[in-house]
Amino acid sequence: MVQKNPYIGYRPTWAEVNLDNLSFNLAQIRKRIPHSTRVMACVKADAYGHGLIPISLRLVAEGVDYLAVASIDEAIRLRQARISKPILVLGLILKQDIEPLFDYDIVPTVCTEDFARVLDVMAGARGRVARVHIKVDTGMGRIGVLSQDAFAFIQKIKRLKNIQIEGVFTHLASADVDRAFTNKQLRLFRGLVNRCEARGIHIPLVHAANSMGVVSYARSHFSMVRPGLILYGLYPAKGLSIHLKPVLSLKTRVIYKKCVHKGSGISYGHTYITPKNTSVITLPIGYGDGYPRNLSNCGPVLINDAAFTISGRVCMDQIMVDVGSRAVEVGDEVILIGSSATRRITAEQLAELSGTIPYEIVCGLGSRVPRIYTPAVARSEENRQFARYERKLPVRMLETSGWPDTFCYTHDISARGLQLVTERPLAPRMQVKLALEAQREPPVHTQGTVVWARQNSVGLYHAGVKLDKSDLSGMCAGASGGF
Ligand SMILES: *Cc1c(COP(=O)(O)O)cnc(C)c1O
Repeated sequence: MVQKNPYIGYRPTWAEVNLDNLSFNLAQIRKRIPHSTRVMACVKADAYGHGLIPISLRLVAEGVDYLAVASIDEAIRLRQARISKPILVLGLILKQDIEPLFDYDIVPTVCTEDFARVLDVMAGARGRVARVHIKVDTGMGRIGVLSQDAFAFIQKIKRLKNIQIEGVFTHLASADVDRAFTNKQLRLFRGLVNRCEARGIHIPLVHAANSMGVVSYARSHFSMVRPGLILYGLYPAKGLSIHLKPVLSLKTRVIYKKCVHKGSGISYGHTYITPKNTSVITLPIGYGDGYPRNLSNCGPVLINDAAFTISGRVCMDQIMVDVGSRAVEVGDEVILIGSSATRRITAEQLAELSGTIPYEIVCGLGSRVPRIYTPAVARSEENRQFARYERKLPVRMLETSGWPDTFCYTHDISARGLQLVTERPLAPRMQVKLALEAQREPPVHTQGTVVWARQNSVGLYHAGVKLDKSDLSGMCAGASGGF
């Protein structure tokens, strides 16, 4: 019987993600910035297509200080993978979506007073303090308070009692092409920060540097940098003096080979006609996987350390290559991004050939392409977030040391115990009585002893509870969580 590869599936097309190269790139970044400067790693868009959870777990293991995502949903996935680092949502959210910021301890970007006021009221109602980062537009023209209005804005937000301005940031618009404009942005931002300091407003995290900033503008480093692309070993511009190793390779295998006559049209529209009698192979990958259709008739591939060019149009699921009389057989490995013994194809090259940027090449790789991690990441780690997603159960704490019916929740539950997230501190050895409120079922009452307890962040506590009796087996079937 043929052994199915449990990671790749039945179609031999995959992306290899080298986590050691990610660590290497982070080390190169750290060499560029002062020792005290913090690193906020941009892991939005599924970590630029590399896989949010495995990438973030490695970055956290390497000690990055902060993670940045584009949406609350991405932040929740990180929390469900039990990543406890601070998380900033770079994009804006609507007022009606504030609740999960408290549930999951997520830091929002703020640039309107209206949003800040609602956040302030909701934080107050929960006895919490909401940390925020204020976004300043120094010339990007996207979200952010215009720099000339930013000081007054910060003063207003400063007056809100339940909000702590933890950070202020701006984004560089043209750091790869326009030095003068970038310097102007940095001057405006520096001016704002100085003005705040002069008025006694100290904001601990000041950040502006994207990858270009990290590499080429020391004055953009401030107290934290915010790289994305270079973490993944890709260059935002040519001629940069930083040594990086690409993290992602894209591979497939020859699935078919046949001989065709001179003058045969290949693929849709016959944009390639064989110039002589030849062999044409088919590869099981296409634009349905995010391989750009613009690489029709120009995309490079490597097979057995020899270079070939795609013949005809890229189809949704397949690509053809005229391999002439070269030794290429069904089953041979094909590199679309990555290195063979003496050659390499980079995402930057594919971007240039297809008229886009390397960001779009890696972000565009579809969910149909399995990501294989080296060194291997336990499947359970990679899928942690799914295992726990539906386990976020509301819990009511009953008559515990004088707390009347306190609401909290658990996302980690097993027959022996559970983890509680509460807004009040618990202490080891405390006895707790609980009512778990599963949806559409009557509440389950149980009791147990607090084994460990810690503070997660301002106003949010975490505790492990060992249950006296195993009466939750029905509720936690399939969950692996402990306490
Ligand atoms: C994506 C993003 C970054 C990272 O940019 P790179 O060019 O990938 O380093 C930094 N800041 C903001 C606001 C972003 O949206």
